[in-house]
Amino acid sequence: MVITEIFRSIQGESTHAGLPCIFVRLTGCNLRCTWCDTAYAFYGGTKMTVEDVVERVRELARPAERVAGAAAPGVSLVELTGGEPLLQPEVVPLAEELMASGFNVLIETSGERPIAALPHEVIKIVDVKCPDSGEANTFRLENLDALGENDEVKFVIATRRDYEFAREFTARHGLAGRVRQVLFSPVHADPEGSWPGLEARQLAEWILADGLPVRMGLQLHKFIWHPSARGV
Ligand code: SF4
Repeated sequence: MVITEIFRSIQGESTHAGLPCIFVRLTGCNLRCTWCDTAYAFYGGTKMTVEDVVERVRELARPAERVAGAAAPGVSLVELTGGEPLLQPEVVPLAEELMASGFNVLIETSGERPIAALPHEVIKIVDVKCPDSGEANTFRLENLDALGENDEVKFVIATRRDYEFAREFTARHGLAGRVRQVLFSPVHADPEGSWPGLEARQLAEWILADGLPVRMGLQLHKFIWHPSARGV
């Protein structure tokens, strides 16, 4: 498999936000969202075996110092991300190996690739691309049937038009009753000015005005570190 980076950081999104997490970023994506903040993962990367990746994750999971009395110290959460991780079929045995090693595994995917081949226990964070992502209508509707009670659906919202799309999609497909959480996240402005952001306060006010059963998500790592920092 081809890997862009493996690193330890704080989970910035989803209901797991704030937890220490090891990220495995797989190389390559078949979409080109206008506000993509990981375009560096489209090309290049390093070839690694599933075993190499699991070993590197194990190394990163170990604490820097032994904590007295801790039965199972270290990081237990791993996220498989990209790019689009589901473009590489080895992601399935990788998720299985990581779970067999005792990790809780999340996968973040665009929603365009089928998720049904993944083990049920893998927590799927599935995007539905909104119109102003430039990748509207890429969501694979049959993925809705493969979602479970631990999974989450995420909309990244750039404009009022995106918000209305997300609101209607959530209602039409009864998402709040299908998954653990529906997430609405404002686009974070590009620090180099390549795309504008959506004010978090604006999105909060729209959600509150409609009383939607969704969780607003901010990309925590962009507040802890510089928004353009890589490997965090
Ligand atoms: S699907 Fe994700 S990695 Fe691919 S272009 Fe969109 S935001 Fe970037």
